[in-house]
Amino acid sequence: MVLTGKSAVVTGSTSGIGLAIARALAAEGASVMLNGFGEEGAIAEMLGELSGASGAEALHDGADMTRPDQIAAMIERAHAAWGGPDILVNNAGIQHVAPIADFPAEKWDAILAINLTSAFHTMRAAVPHMRARGWGRIVSTASAHSLVASPNKSAYVAAKHGLVGLTKTVALETAADGITANCVSPGYVWTPLVERQIPDTMAARGLTREQVIDDVLLAAQPTKQFVTSEQVAALVLFLCGEAASAITGANLSVDGGWTAA
Ligand code: NAD
Repeated sequence: MVLTGKSAVVTGSTSGIGLAIARALAAEGASVMLNGFGEEGAIAEMLGELSGASGAEALHDGADMTRPDQIAAMIERAHAAWGGPDILVNNAGIQHVAPIADFPAEKWDAILAINLTSAFHTMRAAVPHMRARGWGRIVSTASAHSLVASPNKSAYVAAKHGLVGLTKTVALETAADGITANCVSPGYVWTPLVERQIPDTMAARGLTREQVIDDVLLAAQPTKQFVTSEQVAALVLFLCGEAASAITGANLSVDGGWTAA
């Protein structure tokens, strides 16, 4: 197991892509701090599964990614439990779909806080601990929307473009310290985040559910297949390994060819 003795914090990991990343890291021996919202029983089950995978520890921290104090406390909790964190995955994210003139200002603020500013706070807290150990891996889950825009997603597109700039900057600042910082940019992955935006897209564009899936979501993806959470997690796991130590400041697409067009 390549991550035995390492510890990881994965934000937004009680669902979807983050949970798949937590599973992939735990399966390779990393102790994992899960983060995100969810039912107590369901989270306990996830923790049992993660620690059962390799015998490494798994904890949950319910830090709200809109709250800088809670974010800093979560990183310190991971540090106190295991040292590090050696691996930080900035994955928490939300979406809201509406044309600019109707876009609620509070949704803009929430998307920027959770999808972008939270990564500033996690990295600010975690980088000194990584530097002290002379090793670190930071991976931010950006999106194809970090490279291209789509209508009605102003806040999300702005936040994801910003997340790439932020991660590249940290990559340069930490390049000589044994730390890498990269983004992975998925196309459409079938998760609750995508499921939830279908009704809004139906309303915004006057389409049926099937039309949204075929003509809006998969229209952009030349493979005409959803990416899987496990495929994204496999790329994150690779970036956490020694073979990826020369990859830093990159934004790696896993989008079925979307951004090649
Ligand atoms: P999801 O809705 O399945 O999971 C989101 C996670 O974030 C959950 O664990 C949720 O509890 C957590 N979360 C939400 N608000 C939070 C907050 N305030 N504080 C702490 N945790 C919070 O979504 P997903 O599709 O797995 O998305 C994960 C990441 O991948 C996001 O950053 C998203 O933008 C990105 N992404 C998703 C897709 C896709 O098609 N699903 C594509 C590209 C990028």
